[in-house]
Formats: sequence, structure tokens, C-alpha cells
Amino acid sequence: MKLDRHRQRIRPRHRFATAQWAVDEKETIVVELEHDGVVGLGEVVPSTLYGQSLESSEAALDAMIPLLGDDPFAIQHIITCLIEQFDGQRAAIAGVDAALHDWAGKRLGIPVWKLLGLDRPRKQTTFTIGVAELDEIRVKLEEALAAGFDALKVKVGVEHDHEVLSVIREAFDGPLLLDANQAWEPREAARRIKELVRFRPAMIEQPLRKEDWRAMAELRGLALVPIFADESCERPADVVRLHGYVDGINIKFTKCGGIREALLMVTIARALDMQVMLGCFVCSSLAIAPALEIATLVDLADLDGHLLLADDPFDGITRSGGVIELGDQPGLGISPRA
Ligand SMILES: [Mg+2]
Repeated sequence: MKLDRHRQRIRPRHRFATAQWAVDEKETIVVELEHDGVVGLGEVVPSTLYGQSLESSEAALDAMIPLLGDDPFAIQHIITCLIEQFDGQRAAIAGVDAALHDWAGKRLGIPVWKLLGLDRPRKQTTFTIGVAELDEIRVKLEEALAAGFDALKVKVGVEHDHEVLSVIREAFDGPLLLDANQAWEPREAARRIKELVRFRPAMIEQPLRKEDWRAMAELRGLALVPIFADESCERPADVVRLHGYVDGINIKFTKCGGIREALLMVTIARALDMQVMLGCFVCSSLAIAPALEIATLVDLADLDGHLLLADDPFDGITRSGGVIELGDQPGLGISPRA
């Protein structure tokens, strides 16, 4: 197996910000895995929140090459080996995991969802409105509604949350997910949540710092709105740890390492009667497709990373209103835009 990599530059249409960070422009890494004349593609989307950078991901990818072997169909074996050695660099593992699935699908002439025994991916995604001043919120909201999105996710955890949510609820009556991105102290969070329920949120994501996960049980106990863990839930074992403390988990491939580990997290969560959401970072379609392949298994999808871009370098995911889908093309169904 031959593995090449190169960086790609992507730019959101608007500055994208949360209570913690902002993105005007970023780079991700495209992985090309070649074997027997077939090329599988994947995207690495590192996040400093999880100790990952472009450099650490590139170093991990280079060190993975001797471990890949010569059978790209041995996906589970390869991913298990990579996790043993590169547990802290799961964004890089997710890129390889995607490229292996893409390769296997292309080699067999079938889409990845079919390879996995799943239904054709067709899923409503929320569209995320980041932290911004009110004027910009109005512009983003108008754009989102004009584009047909019918479920929104709003970043909260700043002083003017109430003004922002009032503006949104004046124009939008549909499902509204709130993400606090670790903004609050445990005592403050209960008060904030009580104040925010009047905006009828469908759920609140990560109200507390990731290490304060135990205190999420009290917020859940208020029974006002389902509480989901995002930053507190990275890997499969975290799902077990969080059982009883939150209503649901947000799985992201950057955190867990791709399709294999995500399937394990879904299985654990279902066995524990927890809700499941799939999330993402700002990225191109190439990183959204692997998550979309398994999206029919989850309750909520927030797979809008590519929809936030000014120019997506890849094609293949179609959208009508708030629903994104993949077709019957072999592999991940994604190709570089001409
Ligand atoms: Mg989140």
C-alpha cells in the first residue's frame, strides 16, 4: 500500500466562531491510499482541542506507513493496530480509515454504505450558526433559511445569547439545537439552562468543561432539555463512562478515529439506551462523506462542515433543503471538483 498526503486550504463563507475559538481559514490534510491501481481518499481534520495539529497528524501518517501492510481489505485489523500506536492522533487515523473504506468500495464497485450493510444515506442535518454580533447573525439566519435548512444549531455561551436566540426564534420555529462548547461553570449552567428553555431547544450540547462531566448529571436531572456530551466524549470507552450522566453523545471522526470506532460508539450507546448525534468540524465534503455513510444509524446529524465553506474542493454529497444524501457511486462517493 502506498500512502501520500497533501494539505488543502479551505475557507468558511463567514468567520465561524464558538465560545472558545474562531476560524477564518484553515488547512486540512488529504490522504491518498494507492494499491493495485485503485486510489482511496480520506481527509484529516485535526483539532487542537484534542492535542492534534497538522504537523502531529502528518508525523503520525508518515509513521503509519510501515504498519499498513499489503491488504487494504483488512480494515478492522489495520485500524486496531493504528489505535494501539497512535491513540492521541485519531484525526490522522480517521483519514486512513476513510481512505481504506473508499478503496475497498471502489475496488468492489459498491458504495461504502452498502459495504457496511446500511441503508442509503439520506439525513436531515442541522445548519450551524456560530457566535457573532447580532447583525451578522441576522445575515447568517436569512441565508440559512433561504437555502432551505429546516433545523438549526446555534452556538451559545456568550453574553448576548438571549438577543441572538430572540432574533432566531422570531424567524424560525423548527428544531433548534444549542451548543455551549464548555462555556459554563456547573452552578451557572443550571441557571443559564433554565433561562434558555423558553427558546424551546431540542437539546443542549456540552454545557460544562470537559473534565466537569460528572456535574452534567445534575443538569440532566432538571429534566428541562436533553443534555449531550461532545468534548467530554471522544472514544468508545467514554460512552460507557458517561452513561447515566448525559442523555446523548456527539460522535466526531476527528475525536474517535473514523467509521470503525464510530460504529462501536453507536453500538455501545444504543445498548445503554443513549441518544446519538454525529458532528463535525469545518472541513470539506471528503471528511463529511464517511460520517454520512453511517448517519442513518443516529438520531441527530450536524454534518454541515462542508456547507459552511465558500468553495468545497470535493463533489458528491447532494442536498435538498436540510437533507443531505449520497448516491450509488463506489467508495465514499466523493471526487475532486473539476
Ligand atoms: Mg459541540
